Amino acid sequence: MGKDCIFCKIAAGDIPATKLHEDEEMVAFRDVAPKAPTHIIIIPRAHIPTINDLKPEHAPLIGRMLLLAKQLAARAGVAEKGYRMVFNCNAAAGQSVWHIHLHLLGGRDLGWPPG
Ligand code: AMP
Repeated sequence: MGKDCIFCKIAAGDIPATKLHEDEEMVAFRDVAPKAPTHIIIIPRAHIPTINDLKPEHAPLIGRMLLLAKQLAARAGVAEKGYRMVFNCNAAAGQSVWHIHLHLLGGRDLGWPPG
């Protein structure tokens, strides 16, 4: 567990979140400051600070995170219209929590390129 990591604390149940999925490997919950009508955060329980820290052995985990996001998009009713999955890596990309997380955004038209 990362010291003072807010996402480790959410995964452990030490601080509240609106959780949509939990298993031994991952947790999904609603973003507290949603940027779209559907904005879900998917995290691994393992504390990995940034995408730059990924190792080859994390490949199955990342694959399962993407598959979970796909399922959550369907459950949220945004799958057919369209949605976006985003990993921000480091400050210039907007990363503000140093525990990797996959954003699932949908429910409105999303501009491209992103800001
Ligand atoms: P990023 O800017 O890519 O690091 O994304 C971090 C996301 O986590 C932001 O969209 C925040 O709104 C969200 N967030 C931060 N703290 C919490 C929290 N306690 N519960 C739910 N979402 C959070």
